[in-house]
Amino acid sequence: MPDSENRIANSSMSSKSEAVRSLADMADRANRIVLLTGAGISTESGLPDFRSPSGIWTRYRMIDYSEFLSSSRAREEYWRRYLEFYPPFKNVKPNAGHLALVELGKIKESVVIITQNIDGLHQAAGSPEETVIELHGRIDKTRCLTCGKEWNTEDIVESLLRRFTPPACDSCNGLLKPATISFGQQLPEKALERSFQSAEQSDLFISVGSSLTVYPAASLPSAALNSGSKLVIVNAESTPWDQHAHLVVHDSAGKTLSGMINLMQRSK
Ligand code: NAD
Repeated sequence: MPDSENRIANSSMSSKSEAVRSLADMADRANRIVLLTGAGISTESGLPDFRSPSGIWTRYRMIDYSEFLSSSRAREEYWRRYLEFYPPFKNVKPNAGHLALVELGKIKESVVIITQNIDGLHQAAGSPEETVIELHGRIDKTRCLTCGKEWNTEDIVESLLRRFTPPACDSCNGLLKPATISFGQQLPEKALERSFQSAEQSDLFISVGSSLTVYPAASLPSAALNSGSKLVIVNAESTPWDQHAHLVVHDSAGKTLSGMINLMQRSK
């Protein structure tokens, strides 16, 4: 897209509020809106993201799926860190960003939320289950990798706190793993297919709180752009897709999305 059309609002207050107004206008005009949300939409609920300077990867080394499967030492390390990683997700509440997207779904007929998040906060806020596509699974469930039997992660974590031993399935003795997608693990096929279809059918694609560096989710903006959709990026920091976007807002997800909804509701 021509540079002159690309607008990046990251400095003055007035350029940010102009950007929120442009975002509201674009959303008003759009018929099929797709959002891609990442860890950054939930930091205002108190959940750290992965890649910010205070993010989770600054504290932990990554254990990918093949290491989890092949090494009992890696599984022990994985579950030990879960005792620290899981508790913040337990009583977490949706924030202004999640709530704004619920309101967007009431104003516009077609809103789909594709989320990389594992926290369930879109549904907790009130976005209808069928409008949310979870690409990376859910932290509140734990599954047997052999027979698929499911547990509440909270129960597993409690039993680990009583006696630490990496858990195994009580039906088939298979390995248990939280129902989230690790690096190197296959994404749920249907969710992925539906995500690309939705992106390709959108006329406005808004990425919120994602570094857009984790694939295949990070390919969704290009799928949308290639199908003629407009691309908006709302993120605290720059992303590799900023230069291709029609509008970029470097600001808080909660502030930007609630500002957009306020303007849209006022114009009704
Ligand atoms: P990421 O950590 O790579 O990127 C998050 C981005 O959000 C960063 O670029 C950061 O600058 C931005 N950000 C942080 N706070 C923000 C705010 N208040 N407003 C606007 N932007 C903000 O996250 P990702 O792109 O989602 O990808 C990483 C993986 O992280 C995903 O697979 C996801 O499963 C996992 N994850 C999820 C959660 C969660 O469910 N809440 C938390 C941590 C990590």
